[in-house]
Amino acid sequence: MNFTELETIRTAHRPRLQIYTKRNLDDIPQLGSLSREQRRDIRVVSEVLPFRVNRYVLDELISWEDAPNDPIFKLVFPSREMLDAVEFSALSSLIDANADAQAISELVRKIQSKLNPHPGGQTTLNLPRVGNEELWGLQHKYRETLLFFPSQGQTCHTYCSFCFRWAQFIDDVQLRMMARENAKLLTYLESHREITDLLITGGDPMVMKTVALEKHLKPILEPRFDHVQNIRIGTKSLSFWPYRFVTDPDADDLLRLFSTLVNRGKHVAVMAHFDHPRELSPPVVEHAIRRIRDTGAVIRTQAPLLRGVNDSSDIWADMWRQQVLLGMSPYYMLVERDTGAHRYFELPLEIALDVYRGAMRQLSGLARTARGPVMSTGPGKVEIQGVAEVGGQKVFLLRFIQARNVDWTFQPFFAEYDPTAVWFEQLKPAFGEAKFPFEK
Ligand SMILES: *Cc1c(COP(=O)(O)O)cnc(C)c1O
Ligand code: SF4
Repeated sequence: MNFTELETIRTAHRPRLQIYTKRNLDDIPQLGSLSREQRRDIRVVSEVLPFRVNRYVLDELISWEDAPNDPIFKLVFPSREMLDAVEFSALSSLIDANADAQAISELVRKIQSKLNPHPGGQTTLNLPRVGNEELWGLQHKYRETLLFFPSQGQTCHTYCSFCFRWAQFIDDVQLRMMARENAKLLTYLESHREITDLLITGGDPMVMKTVALEKHLKPILEPRFDHVQNIRIGTKSLSFWPYRFVTDPDADDLLRLFSTLVNRGKHVAVMAHFDHPRELSPPVVEHAIRRIRDTGAVIRTQAPLLRGVNDSSDIWADMWRQQVLLGMSPYYMLVERDTGAHRYFELPLEIALDVYRGAMRQLSGLARTARGPVMSTGPGKVEIQGVAEVGGQKVFLLRFIQARNVDWTFQPFFAEYDPTAVWFEQLKPAFGEAKFPFEK
C-alpha cells in the first residue's frame, strides 16, 4: 500500500473508540456465537480479573470462527481456566444464586489476593525518595532508567488478561501507583544525573490526551535535563488502537510532540507491545507506524510468550520478520510473570528457549536484536541463554541483562536443569551450591 492510499484510509473514516467492560458485556455482538456457558464463564471471571475490550479488537483482530481458541480472543477474554477450579465454582454459585453484592465482593477480594498482585515487590522495593518522602508513581530499579507512571495513563485501551499490572485496573485505589505531581518527577530527575532514560509506562500512557503527555515531557527539554537522552513510551496502542496515531482528534499533536523532542536532540522510542503477527495486518497499523517513524521516533517491539497465543517459533519468526519489514526493531521476548492469570498462559522455561531459538534460526541478524527469553525478577532481568552440560551436569545457563546491582550485569550463572520450571524462583543453583552467586 502506498502513502496516498494510506492517507485515504485516514480521511475516509474517523472511528470512535467504543469500549466494552463487564458492565456492558452483553452488548458485544460477536459473543452471540459462543455458548451460554462460555458467556457465563466470562462474566464470572471478569469479576476477578480486569476485562476491557474495544470494538477495533473485536472486529479487526479476533477471528470469531476460531473463538474461544483464537489467539487474540484468548489474549483479551477471561476464561474459567484462569481461576482455580474450586474458587471458580464457589464464585459462580454465588453469582448464579444472585447472592448479595457484599458476599460476592468478599470472595472476589480473597481470590484476587491469592493471585500475587504485586510480583517482584514492585510497590515497595523500587520506590525512589526525595529526602524522606517516597515518590509513588516512580520506580528506579536500574541505574540509568527511571520508570514513570503518569496518573492519567493507568489504564489501557484493552486489557490483556495475563498483565502484571492487572491489580491497577481493578478499582482499588490503594493498589495504584500513581504520580499525582509532575513536579516530583522533575525534582528527582534533576538530582539524578545517572539517569539517561525516562520510560513512561502504565497501563498505557497512550490513553492519555496529548496535552497531558506534553505537560510531562516538554520540561525535559530544559537544559537541566540534558542527561535524560532517551524517552521511551511503553504502549499497546499500535496493536489495540492504532487510530491513536492516525485519526484521534489529537493524533497530529502527538506526532508533533514526538518531532519536537527528536528535533531538540532526544531519542524517542515507542516500545510497542505486539503479541501476535495478526495485530500487524490491518492497513491502519502500517499507516500508524509510518506516521510515527516520520517524526524521527523509533519503534521497538516486545511481548511475552503466552501458551495458546504465540507459543510457536513460526509465530515469532513471522512477527519479527514483518516488524523488521515495517521498520521496527524487535527488542524483548519476555517470560510471563508469576501473577494474575499466569497459570493459564505459562510455559516451561526450556520450551520458551526452544521457541526463541527456533524463531532466531529462521531470521537474519536484523531480527536477532530481540533478546530472550527474559524474566523480569526481583534482582534483575534474567536472560535464559541455553541448556548446557558442564562437568557432566545438565544446567541452565543464565545471565543478568539488567541487575539491581550493576556488578552482576552480564555475569553468567548456572541453575540446575529443570524441565518443569516456569519461573525464576523455581530454579535452584547448580553444582550443589546453596546460593546463586548474586545471593551471597
Ligand atoms: C525492563 C526494565 C527497564 C528497562 O531495561 P532496559 O534493559 O534498559 O530495556 C527499566 N526498569 C525496569 C524496572 C524494568 O523492568
Ligand atoms: S497493554 Fe500492557 S499494560 Fe495494558 S493490559 Fe496489556 S500487558 Fe497490561
